[in-house]
Amino acid sequence: MPVIKDAVCSLCGSLCDDITVTVEDNKITKIENACILGQSKFVGMFKHDRIETPMIRKDGELVPVPYEEAIEAAAKILVNSRRTLSYGWCSTSCEAVSGAIQLAEETGSVIDSTANVCHGPTALAAQEKGAPSATLGEIKNRADVIIFWGCNPVHAHPRHMVRYSSFSKGLFTEKGRKGRKMIVVDVRKTDTAKLADSYIEIEQGSDLLLVTALRSIVNGHEDVIPETIAGVPKAEVLELAETLKNAKFVCIFFGMGVTQSRSKYKNGDAMSSLISDLNQHTKAVMIGMRGHYNVTGFGQVATWETGFPMAIDFSKGYPYYNPGETGANDLLVRGEPDAAIIAAADPGAHFPQKAIRHLAKIPVIQIDPYANPTTEIADVVIPSAIVGIEAEGTAYRMDAISLRMKKLIESKFKTDEEIVKDLTAKVRELKRGA
Ligand code: SF4
Repeated sequence: MPVIKDAVCSLCGSLCDDITVTVEDNKITKIENACILGQSKFVGMFKHDRIETPMIRKDGELVPVPYEEAIEAAAKILVNSRRTLSYGWCSTSCEAVSGAIQLAEETGSVIDSTANVCHGPTALAAQEKGAPSATLGEIKNRADVIIFWGCNPVHAHPRHMVRYSSFSKGLFTEKGRKGRKMIVVDVRKTDTAKLADSYIEIEQGSDLLLVTALRSIVNGHEDVIPETIAGVPKAEVLELAETLKNAKFVCIFFGMGVTQSRSKYKNGDAMSSLISDLNQHTKAVMIGMRGHYNVTGFGQVATWETGFPMAIDFSKGYPYYNPGETGANDLLVRGEPDAAIIAAADPGAHFPQKAIRHLAKIPVIQIDPYANPTTEIADVVIPSAIVGIEAEGTAYRMDAISLRMKKLIESKFKTDEEIVKDLTAKVRELKRGA
């Protein structure tokens, strides 16, 4: 009975790499160390609605076909399209992402990732102000003040606090939780906030105000702060600024409560400036709490290969990037794409109505292990192996550390990487014959 140690959980951006998996008769029978979300990923693949075979829509119905036929149908859609949107690619390997970028270049498509609707503004802020960061190992070993701002790891990243942050014990943080101060800034008292030493409740959409006030105090201008800022009494804001200045090592973990609230990327931009200001007094860093397990990887690979982290338009023959213009939703709401390829994502469930209405009108190619609302509007459906369980590959943790995901069991499904390679080859063949 093979027992596989140090498997990587390919669910959230914590990418826990200490999972032990027991495999019997090509089935996972025991999972150790994973949280409830990770467990559901490992066992869920035997229970959830897998797409069992490639399919093509004929007379309104999805009909099973061999892989080759689905690849050919998908390639024809891409070759006949004048403006394809390629979207998703954050719950798959970096190798598949690299292939998808090559395919987008070959077909003059726009390629965008799920980051555009979550931490995309963080990428914009990082371009303007930089991203003073650290590894999760450094946080574990050194951070004595940890802030969770606009995120709720108790539910979204359940092992984060135990492995890397508040509760973990490290080289210079041997007392663990007792030796660290944990602060939560949010608009409501989350389950994470209930575990904190102090909880600062701010008014919805006022993150920028509080960050700017903290910057003023840290830079010695507390006299300009009004009696209440962002719904928080001045005395509380002063105390928070003092705590940050007097810490040995501060880490601000921030989530979509920051990146998707009012002021969007300016929140990350200002937070980055606050970190620079704090570094005049102590050591401070910031890390985004990334959701999909390899959303960080998409940004890394896209940036090496094109110079941009998302929303990359190849229609001009070179990479062009302008979020707000070249993002997936921007294009769909304007009704521009005449075909779409969606991989490891579900815009059918998460995009605004207007974007979904346009998607429903155009040919859609879906690559995914599971059926989801996007399947309902797809014309070609190509099932894939689950990376980290049925296929190996590389992914980047939320702190941009790359980890190798293991293959744990055999699978009848092609990997995303293989599917993208086959598609690119077929597109080239069709173009040569055109
Ligand atoms: Fe998996 Fe995230 Fe849970 Fe770690 S915290 S076991 S990566 S779901």
